[in-house]
Amino acid sequence: MSAPMNMLRTSRRLSKFSSLLQNFKEEKNVLSIPTRCLSLQEYQSKKLMADNGVAVQKFVVCSSTDEAKSAARNLKVDEYVIKAQILAGGRGKGVFSNGFKGGVHLTKNPSDVENLVSSMLGQKLKTKQTTGEGVKVSKVMVAEALDIARETYFAIVLDRSHAGPVIIGSKHGGMDIEETAATDPDSIIKEPVDIVSSVTEQQCLSVAEKLGFQGSNLQTAADQIRRLYDLFVSVDATQVEINPFGETPDGRVVCFDAKINFDDNASFRQKEVFAMDDMAETDPREVEASRLKLNYIALEGSIGCLVNGAGLAMATMDIIKLHGGEPANFLDVGGGVSEQQVHDAFFLLMGDKHVKTILVNIFGGIVNCATVATGIIKASKKLHLDLPLVVRLEGNNVEEAKKILAESGLKILVADGFNEAARLSVESASKASL
Ligand code: ADP
Ligand code: MG
Repeated sequence: MSAPMNMLRTSRRLSKFSSLLQNFKEEKNVLSIPTRCLSLQEYQSKKLMADNGVAVQKFVVCSSTDEAKSAARNLKVDEYVIKAQILAGGRGKGVFSNGFKGGVHLTKNPSDVENLVSSMLGQKLKTKQTTGEGVKVSKVMVAEALDIARETYFAIVLDRSHAGPVIIGSKHGGMDIEETAATDPDSIIKEPVDIVSSVTEQQCLSVAEKLGFQGSNLQTAADQIRRLYDLFVSVDATQVEINPFGETPDGRVVCFDAKINFDDNASFRQKEVFAMDDMAETDPREVEASRLKLNYIALEGSIGCLVNGAGLAMATMDIIKLHGGEPANFLDVGGGVSEQQVHDAFFLLMGDKHVKTILVNIFGGIVNCATVATGIIKASKKLHLDLPLVVRLEGNNVEEAKKILAESGLKILVADGFNEAARLSVESASKASL
């Protein structure tokens, strides 16, 4: 994923970030540049953590009530915690579409496990961090519950202003961390780490101490922090968030919750991690786009954009907005623009019911505009394009390209400039929505 792509983000994805991290970034006066990165479910993150010596409690993942029944039987614990698996945080205080309250429940009674799981499975869970009606729950974790003496907040994020990882912590973790970050920002610990020389023992101990760990738990917490840092680096994470990072009355330091995001640029060397992505919470248009190998981000508007170059793609979105329209997507087909890409992009945009008009904005630098024009015509005919199509071509061999478009007999609105292209597409999209 190129850097400009990283700058694009819908509010939907933004909402998945903890507001603590947002506050941290805003407070540091850093432009909050959203990044696109893989996020795994809690149970998947915890598996990675357990494999790396990080303390998590025993758990089983259930996709059916039958599995819940056997989980209750087989998990030898004094108390169970039942947790809906969705990518958004704030589950504990969330509400399900059937009215059931709380995406995290504790019970000592094995026979309650099945009921709790069945109240969650198949329902949509709405939390502070979800949008719309919430997210459908298809997996529930049944884990060992432990007494928690104290809940702290611990995270490692890749931070632009420090050009590297920063440890963030708070003595007061748990479900109200957002409030703490808003009302008492000074209580938030920030410890930048040198990515080359790695986190030092001293830093781990100092963070553990500031988080309030004492006695033998001080060293245990420092050890957990080092392991979490090593995991952060080894899996190419952009964020590891443990809330609560807690301690039990019998002296254990445990990661009760886990949220790890991964750098998409590292997918080539993190194949096992990326293979865990079940895409269940990804916009279906983006799933399709990734199958077609298109650099695509779904948005909410009505103008489908096909552009070459990430900068031009963003400028196109801006100018559409300037004319009062809304882009339906970001799509950068790169410098080359092959006929196949034009075909696949049209196919994708035509399958999106929100798209009322397609705007092609191609700058022929490397590519010959005539080749693009031929590709547009072929794709339009093959796919029986029935949406208004606005085309703006500029650069290499543009006159020939315009001739090809004009002689095609297709109803294509050919725009001379960037501005006119945007105006025409906004106009035709609003006509089509009437
Ligand atoms: P979320 O952050 O989505 O609300 P958490 O996993 O943090 O979900 O769970 C919410 C709260 O439930 C935690 O702050 C903690 O108090 C409690 N909790 C979570 N896991 C356990 C556990 N294994 N044992 C006891 N309490 C737990
Ligand atoms: Mg939590």
